[in-house]
Amino acid sequence: MNSPEKSDSGRGTEVAEPEIPSASDGAARAGGRASISDFEIVQHYFDAATERIGLPDDVREVLRTPYREISVQIPVRLADGKIHVYQGYRVQHNGARGPYKGGLRYHPAVDLDEVRALAMLMSWKTAIAGIPFGGAKGGINCPGNELSASELQAVTRSLMDKIEKILGPNRDIMAPDVNTGAQVMAWLMDEYGKLNGHTPAIVTGKPIELEGSYGRESATGRGLVYMFREAAPKLGLTPSETTCVVQGFGNVGSWAARILHQLGVQIIGVSNADGAIRSDAGIDPTALADFLADGGTITEYKGVDTISADELLTIPCDVMMPAALGGMIHERNADAIDCRMLLEGANSPTTPGADEMLNDKGVYVVPDVMANAGGVVVSYFEWVQNMQHFRWEEREINDKLGNIMRRAFREVDAVAKEKGLTLRHAAYEVGIERVVATAKMRGYI
Ligand code: NAD
Repeated sequence: MNSPEKSDSGRGTEVAEPEIPSASDGAARAGGRASISDFEIVQHYFDAATERIGLPDDVREVLRTPYREISVQIPVRLADGKIHVYQGYRVQHNGARGPYKGGLRYHPAVDLDEVRALAMLMSWKTAIAGIPFGGAKGGINCPGNELSASELQAVTRSLMDKIEKILGPNRDIMAPDVNTGAQVMAWLMDEYGKLNGHTPAIVTGKPIELEGSYGRESATGRGLVYMFREAAPKLGLTPSETTCVVQGFGNVGSWAARILHQLGVQIIGVSNADGAIRSDAGIDPTALADFLADGGTITEYKGVDTISADELLTIPCDVMMPAALGGMIHERNADAIDCRMLLEGANSPTTPGADEMLNDKGVYVVPDVMANAGGVVVSYFEWVQNMQHFRWEEREINDKLGNIMRRAFREVDAVAKEKGLTLRHAAYEVGIERVVATAKMRGYI
């Protein structure tokens, strides 16, 4: 077993790992993403963890693939007068710990493989956070950021009509993800309500006026900040002397940046799908978020340097936060990353090969599967409030979120220390073992 010092830094294991899938990892996907599939990434970590904990092959087989997958056709007539046919998916990975729970993503790159990966990640994430949900994910391969509001509404209602039979407040509860926010959740709730009666607990991340929860919009970003506060002392970082670069300035990235900035962290680089900017003097994330909300484009933002997406990842900083899509940090760009902590806001942002390279360089990786759990934790609070038709104040929500995130970090960190594992490997073990334990109690396995 490795020394506590080594494992404390989130690195190193003496247990043989399955071979790292890297053959295609070097060939970057369009848009700077790796060509290893998202499902291969999560299965790699799953295989490594189940090998270490000695999970029997038959049990492993049950958990390695999803329980249920649904794929539906979404034909919609767009403003160009033509019918466009999109594909919608809902994958329910495991429900041993409670109703299936997971976001809904609208992006042209969405496919069954990606949704499967994200669903599996949710099973471990809810278990690590200790909330009573299983894991699921959904998506439509439509360009969510290009469709008009009426087109988005049509696509959204069509999806709900086709999958509502497998959803329900005690079956499967959707939530926002890439290109789906509170408005999409409101349409989903409305459509489900037409078919089944008013059911606010059918989705989380709703507008406050429609029984949404205070604190849900910022929850994933805030959760990341709680993780930063747990991890920072291990690296001797104090917020007022910390610099941070954020890849992806949407819900997760922009809220994490705003809350970090309030703590005194300097945001020195930011990107989104339209471009990347840098300022060693610091970027005010609240002003940038307002500028973008008013219709500005990131590259038009004044007082900063415009840089390429690749350059953003090379900015020397204390904390690098990927908060865009999966597979953005891969073997071709990991070497150029110059940070002390990788705080994963996005799901599966780092390929296994890149993860290994970063660990070897001494980067402290705080993995997606626990770092970005804040969203689903506050979704759980929203669901609880909806089931009781009751509302907590934002302060209570944020405090409860902090308690859960701190507990998750400490429990995973304790396993990492005890077994000499990285935080990622330890987190997978914690998540998988909790799911296995409940599945056994129920008699599934
Ligand atoms: P979002 O749609 O609000 O934001 C995504 C951001 O990424 C946008 O700013 C977009 O412009 C940017 N982006 C897209 N392609 C990019 C590229 N090639 N380079 C740089 N930036 C790019 O989505 P979100 O909800 O913030 O989700 C972001 C990530 O966080 C996803 O991986 C999602 O699965 C994960 N996540 C989200 C939540 C949540 O509560 N919303 C919870 C956990 C994890």
